[in-house]
Amino acid sequence: MTQVKATVDFETLGKQVGWLRVPHSVTRSAYGVIPVPIAVWRNGAGPAILLTAGTHGDEYEGQVVLTRLIQQLDVKDIRGLLIVIPSLNTPAAIAGTRVSPLDEGNLNRAFPGDPSGGPTWKIADYVHNHLVPIVDVVGDFHGGGTSLSYRPHASTHYAPDASDALKARSLAAVKALGVPHVAILENSSGGGAVSTATRKHNKIYLNGEYGGTGSLTQSGIALVDNAVQRLLAFFGATDRHFDPLPEPQVLRLFGHVYVPEPGVFVPATELDDAVKAGDLCGQLIFPENPQRPAIDMLFERAGDVVCQRHPARVDRGDCVAHLAGPEG
Ligand SMILES: [Zn+2]
Repeated sequence: MTQVKATVDFETLGKQVGWLRVPHSVTRSAYGVIPVPIAVWRNGAGPAILLTAGTHGDEYEGQVVLTRLIQQLDVKDIRGLLIVIPSLNTPAAIAGTRVSPLDEGNLNRAFPGDPSGGPTWKIADYVHNHLVPIVDVVGDFHGGGTSLSYRPHASTHYAPDASDALKARSLAAVKALGVPHVAILENSSGGGAVSTATRKHNKIYLNGEYGGTGSLTQSGIALVDNAVQRLLAFFGATDRHFDPLPEPQVLRLFGHVYVPEPGVFVPATELDDAVKAGDLCGQLIFPENPQRPAIDMLFERAGDVVCQRHPARVDRGDCVAHLAGPEG
């Protein structure tokens, strides 16, 4: 049974901006709550859509776009139900960190959540059991965070045993977001991500990686803003017209390269470079022991470099890059 209390009502017509109050009883605040911001628009018949950002607190494009959407979108401009949460793991968003400083919770690994767990698990449980069931579509906007930068791609995730109709609609939707590259993640486990909830409840899930490095660019913000507007129009929540798009490239993601030991990573490639198996990913050097030879780190497969680590100092097990290539 959730202890989270919403100050908004999901049946009331009109636009409401309020809070999900997540109990957090601590020494300095015995009856304290974590207020997670939420906005709700309801206007007659139409699609039911949940948009979230700040699932990881250090990924900002979605947080900015959804905050502006709350300020700018009037209820008369929308039909159906729209729920927007711009900083879903609010304690992590305020701290500017991937995981919550309160419970070390990675919200995108915490689903289906726990109503009696730490704040991160309470938020996951509320989304899993109270929000995803009342919508048709979930859009969760990510970026690389502090440690990674991405060549942007939109993605959709579903279970292998999802209906053909859900798969087809998910693929059509992700291709309509205006992002030149899209990825399909078809597997049975959501791995504790928000998509664990959409898989369980058989809902459309749209995701994507839109930048990174723990900072913002105008191009990254524009990409997410465009994706949000196109998503709302695709499902019929708005009447905005968009010109047809060139067919995006459908990708598989693979080829993660991991650091064997601590050092300084010198990348040999840039985002969007095409590499072959055996090409140099980068060199690990040891400024604290300058006579020690550098270690070459190689790509094991061919593909496009779509993700690279941002901070140069690395530790054993850090992922410094991964690849993507055409589906099939
Ligand atoms: Zn993320």
